[in-house]
Amino acid sequence: MDSFSIATAAYIVASLLFILSLAGLSKHETASQGVLFGISGMAIALVATFIVVADVADTTSVVLLLIAVAIGAAIGLWRARVVEMTGMPELIALLHSFVGLAAVLVGWNGYLEHGYFELQSLEDIHNAEVFVGVFIGAVTFTGSIVAFLKLSARIKSTPLMLPGKNYINLGALALFVVLTIWFVISPALWLLVLVTIVALALGWHLVASIGGGDMPVVVSMLNSYSGWAAAASGFLLDNDALIVTGALVGSSGAYLSYIMCQAMNRSFISVIAGGFGIEAGPADDKDYGEHREITAEDTAELLKNASSVIITPGYGMAVAQAQYPVADLVRRLRERGVEVRFGIHPVAGRLPGHMNVLLAEAKVPYDIVLEMDEINDDFKDTSVVLVIGANDTVNPAATEDPSSPIAGMPVLTVWEASDVVIFKRSMATGYAGVQNPLFFRDNSQMLFGDAKERVEDILKAL
Ligand code: NDP
Repeated sequence: MDSFSIATAAYIVASLLFILSLAGLSKHETASQGVLFGISGMAIALVATFIVVADVADTTSVVLLLIAVAIGAAIGLWRARVVEMTGMPELIALLHSFVGLAAVLVGWNGYLEHGYFELQSLEDIHNAEVFVGVFIGAVTFTGSIVAFLKLSARIKSTPLMLPGKNYINLGALALFVVLTIWFVISPALWLLVLVTIVALALGWHLVASIGGGDMPVVVSMLNSYSGWAAAASGFLLDNDALIVTGALVGSSGAYLSYIMCQAMNRSFISVIAGGFGIEAGPADDKDYGEHREITAEDTAELLKNASSVIITPGYGMAVAQAQYPVADLVRRLRERGVEVRFGIHPVAGRLPGHMNVLLAEAKVPYDIVLEMDEINDDFKDTSVVLVIGANDTVNPAATEDPSSPIAGMPVLTVWEASDVVIFKRSMATGYAGVQNPLFFRDNSQMLFGDAKERVEDILKAL
């Protein structure tokens, strides 16, 4: 059997393992098995690629390939080991940008070094593949870089509102279609240069135009784009494993974006089209009144007298790493006969399931950790809500102010409880950059400081 047949068989096995991996990852009981399937699939695909290269190329190429894989693997292992949970989305965004860049390079290589085609139709298909691959790759590349910059707070998360932004996006898409036809008819280098520039600018603009509140959807949307970029490279390189894997990532990422849009009451089309149809709201110069402050000791008193408590954690709990003292607090209150539960918003934190992972780490029992839909009706019968480092996910403006940038997004209705204590360090806004009227309500009190330290103070006072 020649090396190509071995590789083809190996790629089919790897693709099947990737499908099993996705299936495993969909439930937490089978998630680690899913990860193992994924690792095995990737290992098989890598070995098969080595076999082909060793068969057809000279020693220098094999050595170069080994060096590239070793450098990539070392950087990947190092980043995965040191990354904080809160830094995960930005790391993922950066990895997506690499997939985009790789697709652009593969596309350019496909143009500069393509073989001889006997049939004109095959040549045309090849040229179309080059063009589409470079386009998707370049959009993914710059889009992911903007997402990385926004998620790591290196640039502001507020949406860029260029005049006529929807026409800019539509114009870029129309230009892409025209240029593709032109390139297939006459594959000139300047057309490829032009489409690369247009796609780089479009990717940048698409993600820059999306507001902070919609960033979770953007991350999964870029995940989807990176899948399609990989699939486009697969066509160019004649690599079945890349085509199948790219299609899996592309379609599952698109589906995840769709589910997240539904959960957040957002229009899928609007988000993937760079905030299509969303206009800038009026400047927020409202006077919300004065906020009240509370001490850790008084919070402990409030908790002692409570019959039921709901904790709604957010990104700040992850930053402060407050999950361990929070778990202790829960244990102590439950020992005193207080009913304690958690309310988890679908986009709390910075990645799907972020809060669930932190609470599981701190050994909080699963059965008291409830989803937003399961707990939202119970706030009105609750004595005390502890909002620990959450902000956008408990903002009443989402339901009460139609002009708010987060209007329509379902939120935890914490303000319906008798008392609300909000743990944060300042009056700063949350990720979406929107002021939160919750802080100024009559039944709200601010407990300022690092969430972990304040929870520890409450434990001492208890
Ligand atoms: P937010 O980002 O809205 O707010 C977090 C709050 O935590 C801030 O107000 C901050 O206030 C406070 N905080 C930060 N550090 C600490 C600390 N050490 N101690 C105490 N408080 C602290 O968080 P939410 O979880 O409510 O909302 C998530 C937001 O992130 C949403 O807008 C969501 O769309 C977005 N997002 C979510 C993703 C996901 O997949 N889940 C991905 C990308 C974005 P202060 O600075 O005053 O302390």
